[in-house]
Amino acid sequence: MAKGYIEIDRELCKGCEVCIFFCPKRLIQQSDKLNANGYLPASYGDGDECTGCAICALVCPEVAIEVYRD
Ligand code: SF4
Ligand code: SF4
Repeated sequence: MAKGYIEIDRELCKGCEVCIFFCPKRLIQQSDKLNANGYLPASYGDGDECTGCAICALVCPEVAIEVYRD
């Protein structure tokens, strides 16, 4: 059971991939569709294992990730 989930603002994202690297559950991938600024934004996939740890949000330099806990 997931304990949380995240939302990524794909227009704020600069595609740096830091959140992808740091998520301990490997739940974030790179989207294959450019955003309006021409970046490939991070994309949150299957949230079934998200612990709500908020590491992804803490490391994001663009503050593009919101974490929600159940
Ligand atoms: S809150 Fe934690 S487990 Fe959930 S996506 Fe972010 S880094 Fe991964
Ligand atoms: S850390 Fe933030 S800016 Fe970088 S890819 Fe993830 S959501 Fe986008």
